[in-house]
Amino acid sequence: MANTVDAVHAGDFIADRVREDNSTGRYQGRVQTRFPPEPNGYLHIGHAKAITADFGIATEFGGSCNLRLDDTNPDTEDVEYVESIIDDIAWLGYTPANVFYASDYFTALYEWAEVLIQTAKAYVDDQDADTISAQRGGFGKPGIESPYRERTPAENLRLFRAMRAGEFADGSKVLRAKIDMQAENMQLRDPVLYRIRRSQHHRTGDAWVIYPTYDWAHGQSDALEGVTHSMCTLEFEAHRPLYDWCLEQLPLPYEKPQQLEFARLELTHTVTSKRRLRKLVDDAIVTGWDDPRMPTLVGLRRRGYPAAAIRAFCKHIGVNKTNSRHAVEELEAFVRTELNQSALRRMAVLRPLKVIIDNWPTDSAGEPIVEWFTLNNNPENVNDGTRSVPFSGTLYIERDDFAETPPPKFFRLSPGREVRLRGAYLITATDVVKDLAGEVIAVHCTYDPQTRGGDAPDGRKVRSTMHWVSVDHAVTAVVKCYERLFNAELPGERTGEPLDDVNPDSCLTMLECKVEAALQDSAPGEVVQFERLGYFCKDLETPMLFHRTVGLKDDWANAQRRNSKV
Ligand code: ATP
Ligand code: MG
Repeated sequence: MANTVDAVHAGDFIADRVREDNSTGRYQGRVQTRFPPEPNGYLHIGHAKAITADFGIATEFGGSCNLRLDDTNPDTEDVEYVESIIDDIAWLGYTPANVFYASDYFTALYEWAEVLIQTAKAYVDDQDADTISAQRGGFGKPGIESPYRERTPAENLRLFRAMRAGEFADGSKVLRAKIDMQAENMQLRDPVLYRIRRSQHHRTGDAWVIYPTYDWAHGQSDALEGVTHSMCTLEFEAHRPLYDWCLEQLPLPYEKPQQLEFARLELTHTVTSKRRLRKLVDDAIVTGWDDPRMPTLVGLRRRGYPAAAIRAFCKHIGVNKTNSRHAVEELEAFVRTELNQSALRRMAVLRPLKVIIDNWPTDSAGEPIVEWFTLNNNPENVNDGTRSVPFSGTLYIERDDFAETPPPKFFRLSPGREVRLRGAYLITATDVVKDLAGEVIAVHCTYDPQTRGGDAPDGRKVRSTMHWVSVDHAVTAVVKCYERLFNAELPGERTGEPLDDVNPDSCLTMLECKVEAALQDSAPGEVVQFERLGYFCKDLETPMLFHRTVGLKDDWANAQRRNSKV
């Protein structure tokens, strides 16, 4: 991915624009940005890219970034979403200079709409939404002017005030900009600026029955906040002439904000449309917006993704003008890199198989001796210290680490084979115990007392090292392992409906895992490395429930290596 790293800087056209503006004295060197989510769902990984860009540019140039809740559509918005958005941004590590709401500007926006009406730049249209939409025309198809287009400013003003006063039914009238029904850019064909909607707004209650559209609210809110660089995703490029047009009609005391568009972030095996994410929740395909399989920030957080890894990933991919889909493995590689540094190491056995050491010593009362081994908490960071781990004559190992009849290249435990128990002793399997169904339920072994710490004094080598926990000291845990929520690399490519590609087996719950007692002391939300297995995050609420954050193997790096060989 070396070329992408370079492209981040080469292609950071927004920083280039700010530099240019600063050099020409535009905005007097001021840099003001905003992140403007609509509170109609939870933030997802795509928003993290926008947040990183909005806050990143402001920070880089000594400016500031506001959070603006773009709450102009009361039907779909809710205070639950507002709160989650505020929390998620803080969790990601950013602090908005101000938290504003588009609804704070309803009066200002309304007054500016009256300015438009008075200058004959807007009119009240009595036609319904379908008629207006049909009259818009299309590419190469002329638009049709509304029969209400030539109403006088006085009449429009009277009607608009009556709209506001609640004298008309929902949907019976709209306010439209009077621009050009033949414009090549469809957005300029007399777009709707206000609609009548009687619904309870989560902040303004029933104070308003008319609500501004995105196009009327957005640029004007930017202007009211003194925004200089207003970043959004590429699909708004076609709206830019309208954004500029609206601002040009108003008597603004300072230089107008400018809209800059960048590519959305999309990931393989992932959907980032709020509508689709909501459907996953509503249809109970996932347990909620914070299900660890969700690409929402609450989901990724519950899964154990560190905020620092998400920031590093967003910085790495940078902002550019070309829509592309990044491999989800690329994001996972950042998660692994971060956790490799920060996660404490622990031993956990997900599918336990009992190992009985027949020559293990007993004390005078006939009880097996317990030995304590000192193991590093994190080889990447000596400051994380060590811990004592108990070892005795009966242990659990991973069922997969034993084979009665080993297949070729299987070097773990099998009858007659000597292996290392990590940090403890070398053991050799001698016999198996089976249940009535013929399944191995325990393995008898002997240990070599000369190999304490895991090395033989005669220098003989073993081919594998395995993790273990002492049966008498182990604690039972529940572990949830996740696979991709969508089987397809491009969900929806086949049928057009991404939810058709949902993986029905994306969560595997293991109830009888046996883990080190030290894991009882991990904090909720803490991520640890289960040695040889991956990174696991302790659930925020349920004790001794762990979510697999990501495996240890770097699929992304492996795929890159494979590609570079082709
Ligand atoms: P959706 O279409 O899923 O509802 P949205 O674009 O309507 O998402 P908003 O809450 O309105 O979501 O977005 C807030 C900001 O985040 C906008 O500036 C938007 O352009 C940006 N954003 C949303 N999705 C992505 C994405 N996948 N990648 C980058 N930026 C995004
Ligand atoms: Mg939106």
